[in-house]
Amino acid sequence: MPTAIEFFKLLPKTNCKDCGQPTCLAFAMQLANQKAKIEDCPHVQQDAKDALAEASAPPVRTIKVGNRIPMGGETVLYRHERRFNNPIAYAVTVSDTLEGDALKERVEYIASLCYDRVGMKFKADMVSVRNDSGDSARFKETVKAVCGLWKDPFVLETKDPAAMSEALSVCKLRVPLLYGATAENLEAMCEISKSSKCPLGLICDGLEEAVSMVEKAESLGAKDLIVDLSSANLKELIENQTVARRAAIKKKFKPLGLPMMSRVGSGEYAVSTAVISTLKYGSLVIFDDLKPYEALPLFTLRQNIYTDPQVPIQVKQDLYPIGNPDEHSPIMFTTNFSLTYFTVRADIEKAKIGVWLQVVNTEGLSVLTAYSAGKFEPERVADAFEESGVLSKSDGVVIVPGLVTRMSGKLQEIIGRKVIVGTNESRDIPKHLRSITQ
Ligand code: SF4
Repeated sequence: MPTAIEFFKLLPKTNCKDCGQPTCLAFAMQLANQKAKIEDCPHVQQDAKDALAEASAPPVRTIKVGNRIPMGGETVLYRHERRFNNPIAYAVTVSDTLEGDALKERVEYIASLCYDRVGMKFKADMVSVRNDSGDSARFKETVKAVCGLWKDPFVLETKDPAAMSEALSVCKLRVPLLYGATAENLEAMCEISKSSKCPLGLICDGLEEAVSMVEKAESLGAKDLIVDLSSANLKELIENQTVARRAAIKKKFKPLGLPMMSRVGSGEYAVSTAVISTLKYGSLVIFDDLKPYEALPLFTLRQNIYTDPQVPIQVKQDLYPIGNPDEHSPIMFTTNFSLTYFTVRADIEKAKIGVWLQVVNTEGLSVLTAYSAGKFEPERVADAFEESGVLSKSDGVVIVPGLVTRMSGKLQEIIGRKVIVGTNESRDIPKHLRSITQ
């Protein structure tokens, strides 16, 4: 990413303020911090725009599978430097030896690898339809059937260009990933990728071959490439992916500035490969098979790596009824920091008493932090009550979190409703709720 001064050199330097910034230099600083887009300046010349677009393109190119799943687009080596942008995707294989009910059950099983956690949905992202039969007609029929069963993006997996072309004829509009091109079939696969505008996975024997295959593929007009470095073991996988990513980000070495993928089997070694790829620096892992007890921890790891370290996980400001509350049920409120919300919610559920839980937008801060930062004030709580209409849904008592007792008086005054002080600790909520309702 260019510095503010490098951006500034390409701007008109008239300080006209049309971009909403007081000076061109201020705008350049916004660009360098990725808080503005070059299009926000209506006066920048096309050649400068092109130069800025080239200079500000991420060192790892962004490729989309199915026009929906972006891969790559990374700008940093370490998450704490800024953030990682596009989470690694996990695909699970569907063999073209399956048909009928067995095929349907296989796709349904992959779709069932789906979990709700802290308000987010984790799932297997893609299926990879593999040409195990070696029969192109069979492959095409399986792809056609999978298209009707699986609505998310997918991978077509064969090294036979003729089978790839046939299969693509029934699913081109779904823009699948074509996997894969080898040194032997590269020209034919590049032609298919170019004419169909589908991304192409390159199966390379290590870094050197990756560089020569990428350069050749690009010279043949295939631009959307994903690289499989075919590492022999876990140590080599870490080394290869780290060298490639460092070359892309530190040296701006374009042939390795591409998303990376791995093709794995099933079981412990496959999961270890996926863990490493999730940490450093894969964009896609295709499994032969993935069990639910392997999937959930892997998806959780991915969530941890790909959340923005500067933005806490949040839930929406809203009114959440818990345990069938009625017009006399107590009203509780808390912040929109996910961990606070889910902890409080779980403890309310333990009480088995209906409660209206109002979540207040505190920009993801927890109770005491939000209160100290002035983001959990009585006025803000009252506004949230007003927006949800909770005070007209229930005439029950309003319970103030024990950690912010100090807002009780002011809140009572603003909403004109009796408030009481709740517990300091979430775990004491069930006992407290029982004590005030029985
Ligand atoms: Fe400078 Fe363009 Fe902003 Fe005007 S609109 S102040 S020329 S950056």
